[in-house]
Amino acid sequence: MSVDRQQDPINQNKPEIRNNVLEEGVECYSHWLSVEEGNHETDIPVQLELKQLEYNKDNDRLIIHDNLQNTDIEVIISNGFPVCTLCKTDDCAHTGFAICVIQNRHRERQN
Ligand SMILES: [Zn+2]
Repeated sequence: MSVDRQQDPINQNKPEIRNNVLEEGVECYSHWLSVEEGNHETDIPVQLELKQLEYNKDNDRLIIHDNLQNTDIEVIISNGFPVCTLCKTDDCAHTGFAICVIQNRHRERQN
């Protein structure tokens, strides 16, 4: 008997984040946004989603949930510069996602 690899459901869950770079976060964001906007054409699960967003006096704070790792990631945006508290960097997938969220929120506020 042969196993049809194409039917393997694990392939559906392949992570969108492989190299943990900013571009992957941007891709995760647009994927998440299309699902949020009711586009159910895609049945590929979103890896990152926004869980919480706080506007504070000194900084903005985002909690991003990683569905594949099942972890929450905190990104702090201070003076417009995001830093991921997990990766301790400003150019990982999580900061890419956070930048997209903030840019989109500012656009909503102006409208
Ligand atoms: Zn990160």
